[in-house]
Amino acid sequence: MQEIEGTHSPKVKWRLRAFGPLLFFLFLVAGLKTLAAGRIFWPIQGQEIPRHKPIAQVIQATSSGKPESGLFGCVRNNGYKFHEGIDIKSVRRDRYNRPTDKVCAVLPGRVAYVNLHGGKSSYGIYVILEHTDEKPRVYSLYAHLHSVAAGVVTGKNLAGGQVLGLMGNTASSGIPRSRAHLHFEIGLRLTDNFQAWYNRQKFETKNDHGIWNGMNMVGLDTLDFFRKVADGKVGSVEDYFRTIPEAFRLRVRTNKMPNFMKRYPGLLSKTAPTNVQAWDIAFSWYGMPTSIIPLTKAELGVADGSPKVRILKMNKTLLAMTKCRSTLVTSNGGARLGSNLKIYLELIFEV
Ligand SMILES: [Zn+2]
Repeated sequence: MQEIEGTHSPKVKWRLRAFGPLLFFLFLVAGLKTLAAGRIFWPIQGQEIPRHKPIAQVIQATSSGKPESGLFGCVRNNGYKFHEGIDIKSVRRDRYNRPTDKVCAVLPGRVAYVNLHGGKSSYGIYVILEHTDEKPRVYSLYAHLHSVAAGVVTGKNLAGGQVLGLMGNTASSGIPRSRAHLHFEIGLRLTDNFQAWYNRQKFETKNDHGIWNGMNMVGLDTLDFFRKVADGKVGSVEDYFRTIPEAFRLRVRTNKMPNFMKRYPGLLSKTAPTNVQAWDIAFSWYGMPTSIIPLTKAELGVADGSPKVRILKMNKTLLAMTKCRSTLVTSNGGARLGSNLKIYLELIFEV
């Protein structure tokens, strides 16, 4: 029997007409998902983003043995100690029990900093990449590395997924080999004048890393970011920022124009006027500034140079759920600034 190409029975034609647009839509969604997942990589080479895996299979616990202690947020010391990233456990070891997991760039980016002196930082050997294509421009940080790949030097551009080093257990404090892991963060850089702030703190140790000290970064909720990428809900950092719920809003009265506002104009509701008198800043529960409204003299009245902070709004349900004792601390209907949030504000406003 001869088949005639390009013709279908009326029934098939009807089905195509009815389901064609639906199929097209489904292909489009699947395509976009693949695109997002293909552009953003889990920081361990060859591993998929763990969407539904139990966290004990992915996250390295601290000496407490609780996997939650390796997650992002106020997960240590009853919520008073903030962990700014996630600790990804080693799943590959050689016969001496040394990790062989390869660490890779999560997005295309430029090497901003490489610290090769493991003993000079609690991060041990670490690399920071700057992702200039993202809005806002974020940094990713890879810590406790055993070694850094050849050619990974400041200024070098890396492709997304490109190997930058080997997982390890380097740190000034020392981490046992059995708990070797990758400490991973994505975040914003708080100030260009980090050293001036550092000098005022009278820390016992010297800052060997300039503006690339980990304290100069405010991190986002890492695993939440990756899971949204894997679910196809987010294809870029810009998309992700739109999903971050506002937990509280502060008004900082000051006529200062911090460099943070100049480096992150996309977070501002409008171009900051030269006679700015205050900043209304929306924060996530973990203290990430997500949107900023500059206020002028006409809108506010006169402010002086030293910042004065007032809580304008808070989402009590969200804050009660996240129980962070180092960002905005709520109690008996009131609230106060926690230790980490105070540092973020000091660094942003340079006080
Ligand atoms: Zn960590």
